[in-house]
Amino acid sequence: MFAKKGVTLRTAIVGLVLLCVIMLFGISVIVVYHANKKRLVEENLNINRVYAEKLADTTSQLFQGMQQTLGLMAPEISLVLADPKPLAEKLEIILKANQNFNSILAVSAEGKLLASAPDQGIADIQLNSSGVNDALREKRFLISNPYQGITGRLILLVSEPLWDKQGKYAGFLAGTIYLEQDNVLERNLGTHFYKDGSYVYVVDSQGSILYHPDRNRIGEKVNANQVVQFLMQGSEGSLQLTNTLGEEMLASFSYIPLSRWGIISQTPLQIALQPNQEMVRMMIKYACPFFLLILLLSVFWAHQIAVPLQRLAEYTEKSLDEEDECPFPEFRPWYYEAKQLAKTSRLTVEHLLERKNESLTDPLTGLYNRRAADKLIREWTEQGKPFALALIDADRFKRINDQLGHQAGDEALRFLANFLKENVREGDLCCRYGGEEFLLLLAGLEGKDAWEIVDDIRSKLSRTSSPIGQPLTISGGITLFPAHGDTPEALIHLADKSLYQAKEAGRNRTLLYC
Ligand code: GH3
Ligand code: MG
Ligand code: MG
Repeated sequence: MFAKKGVTLRTAIVGLVLLCVIMLFGISVIVVYHANKKRLVEENLNINRVYAEKLADTTSQLFQGMQQTLGLMAPEISLVLADPKPLAEKLEIILKANQNFNSILAVSAEGKLLASAPDQGIADIQLNSSGVNDALREKRFLISNPYQGITGRLILLVSEPLWDKQGKYAGFLAGTIYLEQDNVLERNLGTHFYKDGSYVYVVDSQGSILYHPDRNRIGEKVNANQVVQFLMQGSEGSLQLTNTLGEEMLASFSYIPLSRWGIISQTPLQIALQPNQEMVRMMIKYACPFFLLILLLSVFWAHQIAVPLQRLAEYTEKSLDEEDECPFPEFRPWYYEAKQLAKTSRLTVEHLLERKNESLTDPLTGLYNRRAADKLIREWTEQGKPFALALIDADRFKRINDQLGHQAGDEALRFLANFLKENVREGDLCCRYGGEEFLLLLAGLEGKDAWEIVDDIRSKLSRTSSPIGQPLTISGGITLFPAHGDTPEALIHLADKSLYQAKEAGRNRTLLYC
């Protein structure tokens, strides 16, 4: 039986190769992912920066245009300031000619609304909002911070001072932008709203949102945002940050000096990195066939490497476990270590078997020795098949030694051994049990048959000349398994008893135990 194999060399090699391939692939994916991530972040920040600059420029030009329009119209308006009807008409003309404003106002130096276009029926009322007060105080072209107008709207006021003929301050002409409705900012910046999740928004110098693709966020204060803080200091640049809604963003920002606003163009990091995820997917997809190929190759090579060692391992295990000699396995040890191992294991097994045989063989006669005999009796009794056991002793052997010398005695023993071996049946076993004593194991014999076979041998021997010049005689005691005993010790003991009786009875005879 083979021992439990556990992990085989083939499994170990395939496992090692797979582990290396997986680790190598994992490392490549990580390296490529990070290198590409850096590139994608830089690329996105750059695109957003160029974009924010461009929009800042466009918006700047837009306000310069507004300033120009109001500046050109201001002298004409100053002339009709006291005349409500022409004043209203002129405001209508300005509004129609200029699509940038949601409404046009003329306000007196005391802050009274003189006229508005479109006419909202609120002329002559006193205005007191922060945008109006700032314009009255500053008396120069001014873009207000967002404020709540008299109609409740969130408004930006773009104002140009009015001067009368004497050069005295007469109020201001202003265009308004309704931040929460369709307005010029939305028309200009909204068209640039990206579909991929990138977007643009505008904040004023106080950190309030003036434009955002999500109208609900207009007017919201976002000065906690890192980018907005930079913009409020008049800086420009690019940044990876977490926005006020907790999203990771790649933001670039540009400053508009004329209005002191900031334009922020930003892309969610997750969206910017989407090509990276796609790339990893592609890497895995393209690597799969190679991975399979490497797996097949590694299984093939592991097999090639392992086969010689596996055959050798099986050969040595079998050789040491089994009684019979095993044939050396047929295989080609194609590499140095296997060649050496094949040579060494063959020699070692042969040597071990030789020693094993030696330990079971009697050197003088070549028969099984006593150790082998005991082992065989044990095995036969364990198998449970009936057999006869005959203990045989040469008669008066001491005399032979004494008269003819020890060497002649040896010669006589060799002769006796051969004689016994040649005269037992095939399948019967013949052992030298000690000195001039022999043991026969005769398979499947009943009492009478056993006695007849042993006695025939004895009788034949007594009639055969031997190397010492005269026939040798033997005496024998026979026991039967399982009839007389079921342990080796009992069988030998009883056979010995019968042998003793045969000697007592005059030798050259065989007795069956009874
Ligand atoms: P018995 O008929 O009672 O068996 O007489 P025996 O002389 O055979 O018995 P004993 O036990 O007195 O003597 C056995 C002899 O066998 C003594 C020993 O010298 C001899 N002998 C035992 N082994 C060997 C051996 O290997 N070679 C030789 N030459 N003689 C051996
Ligand atoms: Mg003896
Ligand atoms: Mg004897």
